[in-house]
Amino acid sequence: MQYDVVVIGSGPGGYVAAIRSAQLGKKVAIIEKYKVLGGTCLNVGCIPSKALLDSSEHFYNAAHHFAEHGIEIAAPVANLSTMIGRKNGVVEKMNAGINFLMKKNKITVFNGLGSFVDKNTIKIVKNDGSEESITTQQVIIATGSKPTILPFMNYDKKRIITSTEALNLPEIPKHLIVIGAGVIGAELGSVYARLGAKVTFVEFADSMIPTMDKTMGKELQKSVKKLGTDFFFNTKVTKIENSGEEVTVFADGADGKPVEIKGDYCLVCIGRRAYVDGLNLEAVGVATDRGKVVVDEHTLETNVKGIYAIGDVVRGAMLAHKAEEEGVFVAEVMAGQKPHINYNLIPGVVYTWPEVASVGATEEELKTKGVAYKAGSFPFKALGRATASGDTDGLVKVLADKTTDEILGVHIIGARAADMIAEAVTAMEFRASAEDIARISHAHPTYMEALKEAALAATDNRAIHS
Ligand code: FAD
Ligand code: NAD
Repeated sequence: MQYDVVVIGSGPGGYVAAIRSAQLGKKVAIIEKYKVLGGTCLNVGCIPSKALLDSSEHFYNAAHHFAEHGIEIAAPVANLSTMIGRKNGVVEKMNAGINFLMKKNKITVFNGLGSFVDKNTIKIVKNDGSEESITTQQVIIATGSKPTILPFMNYDKKRIITSTEALNLPEIPKHLIVIGAGVIGAELGSVYARLGAKVTFVEFADSMIPTMDKTMGKELQKSVKKLGTDFFFNTKVTKIENSGEEVTVFADGADGKPVEIKGDYCLVCIGRRAYVDGLNLEAVGVATDRGKVVVDEHTLETNVKGIYAIGDVVRGAMLAHKAEEEGVFVAEVMAGQKPHINYNLIPGVVYTWPEVASVGATEEELKTKGVAYKAGSFPFKALGRATASGDTDGLVKVLADKTTDEILGVHIIGARAADMIAEAVTAMEFRASAEDIARISHAHPTYMEALKEAALAATDNRAIHS
């Protein structure tokens, strides 16, 4: 065999699995159908969306918050093409970083579409049309996901778009209609609302980010509403049409009445589907379930010995850090080790402002399961640090077992929630109680004090500052 391990797909799952396999002494190749490495996350996902979120946030603060801090400037002008150019530069820097890591770890990179010939042979159709086959002992499928889009949505990539096009628009929309108020809708809707677009959300469920703790969706809606956005909840889209420069969304509204919304762009973000197109899984008989590759829970091996799968293409949260954990896990399993992933403690973050971050069970899940719990909340507006900066929207909610006081879930909406959640994940990984967090000294004044106060509130309602 030419290689010990061949990884198909170079997203955060694939490239991390390749590096860890190389660290464990394996001869590794990685195949990527695009010209650049890094997958969805680096090229059209996590990193470019955060670059635009950061630029639009600077713009919004300059336009709306600088004056209250005593900074007087002329009304700022948003230059979208400069923002997109900067975003592209950020992505290119990180692409170069992954190339460097591949070289450093002596991983062979093939650019082309990888497909199975048999379980030990992978054909690569390169970008110039030429073909090459390589042989390997083991394979990791890390081919990720693509946006879900339904035929009646008439996706044309120009006016009716997915997140991929939304990261490269030629202009700031006048009226952006966002179908799906989930994670992508909240983030990219925020980008364009901050830059001055009118944004209307059309959501099937009854709140924003409906899979997270309900309080988070309610609070986020209040903050996003301040950007001048509109919402249609319990509304099912039935058709989207583009007539040149105008887009019309037809839907069945909450009260059963038909809804018709007109805008100049429509962003469809209703979830993503596992991507296995072109892999020729049939040649080896790898099983799938509703499009996702089926894996053994303890090993991430598919039903075919020696073929493993990780990341968005398998069950579970479609998150970069989940894919990365699985990348390390699978490499270690393949090397004969016995690693572990605690799927219950994979945090979820929405990079709006304020940010939303969550780990563990939601209040709704605890109620459904009949778990006896205590809840403690603390609002950011009662926090010295938040008042000083002017970021007073949001709260921290700690959920703990009623009898043992073990922390079961932490949900934060507020400034820097994305970073704050790490303390909760660490505490829960060590099975801390709410009392443990409440007794730990937290520097003053910091946002993290809100977690301590919420933990105090969860233990005998003894928060100090509320
Ligand atoms: P991917 O990153 O999708 O990579 C798969 C790669 O495989 C792709 O490069 C693809 O071209 C390649 N490939 C597919 N088939 C073949 C083949 N046959 N041969 C060769 N190559 C192939 N997650 C977060 O945790 N935080 C965030 O902030 C975040 N933001 C996001 C923002 C947006 C707009 C989007 C769309 C997603 C975001 N995500 C975020 C989700 C995150 O991008 C994914 O969970 C993550 O990229 C999954 O990693 P992966 O390695 O499984 O697959
Ligand atoms: P999502 O599942 O977060 O949200 C989709 C939303 O669309 C849901 O609220 C759903 O109720 C709604 N919906 C579904 N069908 C609909 C319809 N026909 N009409 C109206 N609404 C409808 O999915 P997404 O926002 O597309 O993101 C896809 C994936 O990418 C997510 O799984 C997420 O984990 C990942 N992602 C993560 C981040 C992050 O970690 N910050 C950012 C972006 C994307």
